[in-house]
Amino acid sequence: MLIDSRELTDGSSLQADICIIGGGAAGITIAREFIGTNNKVILLESGGLEFDQQIQSLYSGDNTGLPSFDIDVNRLRYFGGTTNHWAGHSRPLDPIDFEEKEWMPHSGWPITRADLETYYQRAQPVLQLGGYDYENLAKLTRATGLEALALDERRLKTAVYGQSPPTRFGIEYRNELARAANIQVYLYANVLELLPNESAVHVDYLRVASFKGPRFRVAARQFILATGGMENARLLLLSKQFTPEGLGNRNDLVGRYFMDHVLLRPGLDVSFTHPGLQLGLYHALHDVEGGKKFAIVAATEHLLRKERLANFRIHLYPTGPHYKTPIGGIFSDLDGFAGENPLEKTRNNSIAMHMVLEPVPNPDSRITLSQNKLDIFEQPKLEVKWLVEDADLTHAYRAMELIALEFGRMGLGRGYSQLFIDKTRWPKHMEAGKHHCGTTRMSKDPKTGVIDANCKVFGVDNLHIAGSSVFPTIGYANPTITIVALALRLSDHLKYTLRP
Ligand SMILES: Cc1cc2nc3c(=O)[nH]c(=O)nc-3n(C[C@H](O)[C@H](O)[C@H](O)COP(=O)(O)OP(=O)(O)OC[C@H]3O[C@@H](n4cnc5c(N)ncnc54)[C@H](O)[C@@H]3O)c2cc1C
Repeated sequence: MLIDSRELTDGSSLQADICIIGGGAAGITIAREFIGTNNKVILLESGGLEFDQQIQSLYSGDNTGLPSFDIDVNRLRYFGGTTNHWAGHSRPLDPIDFEEKEWMPHSGWPITRADLETYYQRAQPVLQLGGYDYENLAKLTRATGLEALALDERRLKTAVYGQSPPTRFGIEYRNELARAANIQVYLYANVLELLPNESAVHVDYLRVASFKGPRFRVAARQFILATGGMENARLLLLSKQFTPEGLGNRNDLVGRYFMDHVLLRPGLDVSFTHPGLQLGLYHALHDVEGGKKFAIVAATEHLLRKERLANFRIHLYPTGPHYKTPIGGIFSDLDGFAGENPLEKTRNNSIAMHMVLEPVPNPDSRITLSQNKLDIFEQPKLEVKWLVEDADLTHAYRAMELIALEFGRMGLGRGYSQLFIDKTRWPKHMEAGKHHCGTTRMSKDPKTGVIDANCKVFGVDNLHIAGSSVFPTIGYANPTITIVALALRLSDHLKYTLRP
């Protein structure tokens, strides 16, 4: 059932078994899992069914970190959330992404890739991705008749990527939720604060408001915070009753370790030695078993361990005969050749390589509440300080170098990157990936994380978190398939917790 909160009576009190805050990929996935169960579910969504600038303004804030992070274009605040404009690129995290790696401080999930495997499989139809075949490159090459690059498997690999249509959760799943008798979706319902009992170990109810409309409260047995990678932290920080530092924030971790993928578009430009190289496997979409797929080049586990690197991937985009590289510089090949680019005048084919790099978790990269700016509900806005470390720059440089070396080794061309001119500075076009992670990180220990392996907030017995804010590290893969897999896993856990 879809309900417009603006029509509620001021001061109403609502009651549910489960209350989900936020109707994006995570919140809608969980609500769908409870359709037809004995549990009464309330989903509270800040926006309506369409974009509204005034509600969107609740997402504005200050950026005090790197200028390449643009807080205003990153998220959407209406039913369906940011999936109303996501691109749909999908791939599970690699097994190594879950490990505690001695060369990467603050790494390590309390769960493994194997723990998520069945949930990744269940996420596949939710995201309309077709067959679950991320490790079966042969299937992709057979289906397309296209060849993969002959990469040295100790260094780089061709990996399969999925392309969701992309699923717009608010549109795709609206009718199903509207028809479900036990699910109530309240639109225009802005959660302002979570109110716990006096010892702050149990959430009693939520304070909710409609803009220029009624204020009401919602009580539930279980609450799930699913408002996106930045807002999850903001809502906890705003919940100060009996916990001036914010709910679940006894160890000052809420909002810290804010991460986003580092994008270099392009990171490397490879001038072909042999023009006309066929790269259709990588740059075109292919229909395989009811879904669309393409290929990327990624680091192998062997390479990451040997070089002590963060995970990375590259997309290959062939460029036309008159392509002029937007970046200048020298190039590097197997011989470590350095000099002016002699192919610049003569080459007639090249590839622009877009790199996506995993950042090292950094406690100083963080979300806080603004000291002086208030939103339309008179609550402190968000302040974002996105930082990357020197180690990230070192990882980016080495990744570029290794890719250039590999293309040289294959005799295919020579790599040319801004980082080869100056490895001490990010190229101006470095940007953030719009994947907001880490601000309520998962851990086995409350001293190093905000939630436990079941996504429950440490020290609060009925509050769980869904979304990429729970990722302690993020690999190179886009986050949404992992968000959905974790949401499915959390749903199973709650069904068990709430069993009669
Ligand atoms: C341009 C762009 C391209 C992207 N492309 C990809 C891609 O190719 N692949 C990929 O995996 N990911 C991609 N992403 C990221 C992807 O969109 C997110 O990972 C995903 O949408 C996050 O889902 P979520 O449910 O956690 O949060 P959201 O989708 O952001 O949903 C949060 C919901 O909570 C609601 N809300 C917020 N605050 C409150 C409140 N106080 N009270 C009530 N409701 C509230 C919001 O209105 C919203 O509906 C992209 C993002 C952007 C911006």
